[in-house]
Amino acid sequence: MSYKRSIAVQVPAKVNLQLSVGGRRDDGFHELASIYLAVSCFDSVTLTPAEELRVTVSGAGAGAVPADESNIAAQAVKLLAEERGIHPGVHVHLDKRIPVQGGMAGGSADAAGALVGCNALWNLGISRQGLVSLGAELGSDVPFSVLGGAAYGSGRGERLTSLPTGVTYHWVFATADFGLSTPEVFAEQERRRRDAGLPWAADAIPSPRMSQKLVDALVDGNIAALAEGLSNDLEPVAMSMRPELARTFKAGTSAGALAGILCGSGATVGFLVSDRREAETVAEQLLASGTCTSAHIAHGPVPGPEAEEAITNGESS
Ligand code: ATP
Repeated sequence: MSYKRSIAVQVPAKVNLQLSVGGRRDDGFHELASIYLAVSCFDSVTLTPAEELRVTVSGAGAGAVPADESNIAAQAVKLLAEERGIHPGVHVHLDKRIPVQGGMAGGSADAAGALVGCNALWNLGISRQGLVSLGAELGSDVPFSVLGGAAYGSGRGERLTSLPTGVTYHWVFATADFGLSTPEVFAEQERRRRDAGLPWAADAIPSPRMSQKLVDALVDGNIAALAEGLSNDLEPVAMSMRPELARTFKAGTSAGALAGILCGSGATVGFLVSDRREAETVAEQLLASGTCTSAHIAHGPVPGPEAEEAITNGESS
């Protein structure tokens, strides 16, 4: 019987406590000011040596995730392999629990898991900061998915400063029976700005700034101020594209959530709640309201991904 070394990585989803969108740059990205929080809803990324690079996907929404080299986790494997001159012979298995097209950086989490996992599988010894920098080549949210915890992001979201907080916040995430495409939501936002005669290019709009009030609330554990300060510029745009989201917001706040916030570009809605018990009540009432397909109870911040090593029966992969 042959044995293989494999690496498993659990990677958290994120919610943006602030997402302020500036103008579009010449490279197509938007200037952002973002406060990220990593939350305890995890995708699992398992990496096993194989003849060729291949991807398999299981879990919620797996059918909507490409099981080929276009998968962002496969792109991460290739990037690291090219960087180090290694053959990218790896079987990448993704077990999805982060909602697909949910605005919680599910794809970015898988890319981060692949970077952290291959670093361990190939014994490369790249520092966390080195992986954060590589992640920026794959997508704007990948650096934070590598870092975890809580952080402020500027630029297109990839220039990160960690935010220390010893406080745990409780959340419920209500998933929709539809996804929202990030590029489409940004395009709709730009269309609205143009229609209103407002500037839309990065050189015509001041760069958005981090809300110091929100950072203070987050770091100090002032949950009331945090609830009051949550903000996402894409929320009105996503809600105009999917008006039914308003019912989800209403159901969550009527159930006792302190505040609701659209996750990234949607379509998941995150609800900040006072404690774990309240999370259960809000999750139950959200499900009973019929305005979401599932309600995940989670907390954050949680640390970024760590590689766990296992020896498996090689025949099973
Ligand atoms: P973000 O919050 O980073 O903007 P998202 O969480 O809204 O993204 P994802 O779940 O990352 O959205 O999926 C966006 C699209 O990326 C999907 O429709 C899918 O076709 C594609 N994709 C590629 N790789 C993956 C992956 N590993 N997991 C999920 N989607 C992937």
